[in-house]
Amino acid sequence: MFIGLQELESRTVRFNVDVSPGEIDFDSKLTQGSVLHAEGTAQLINHSLGEIRVQGDLDVTMEATCDRCLEGAKFPVKNHFDLVYMPSAGAAAHGEDEVDEAGVEVGYYEGSGLGLNDILREVVLLALPMQLVCSEACKGICPVCGQNRNQQDCGCHLEAADDRWSKLKAFRSEIGPRN
Ligand SMILES: [Zn+2]
Ligand SMILES: [Zn+2]
Repeated sequence: MFIGLQELESRTVRFNVDVSPGEIDFDSKLTQGSVLHAEGTAQLINHSLGEIRVQGDLDVTMEATCDRCLEGAKFPVKNHFDLVYMPSAGAAAHGEDEVDEAGVEVGYYEGSGLGLNDILREVVLLALPMQLVCSEACKGICPVCGQNRNQQDCGCHLEAADDRWSKLKAFRSEIGPRN
């Protein structure tokens, strides 16, 4: 769905869409695990500046590999969003500092309008946490043996610490006499 400036000039555009997986290109790390449902409105809030306000609700389940244990994990996103888009030509004149002070999420569009899928993509990416973990309690993978420590405690991290310590002690005794 394309939200065109021309249409916005005369009315508020309403959208109510179900986007199938594959229609939106996400980050290569992310997969869309369910139909993405979004509904809301797009509105021209400043005719002379061409500022478009897009607000609504989005519901989708994203899938990615956990940053710690590398197992597949689901990330449900249920988000209300409220974004303002300005023509990219006016961005320089408007000043980016001004935008930051307002505390509103501002994006830019080029040409005669913007694609709804691009907006939804941005909403999903903004809603996801920086670190994608299957759970806050995820213990991750053992750096020594590669065992997923959520499934089984390999107990070898203590040995690893001992190893490093004995190497350090050996190193110290090597350089010791010179001091
Ligand atoms: Zn994990
Ligand atoms: Zn281990």
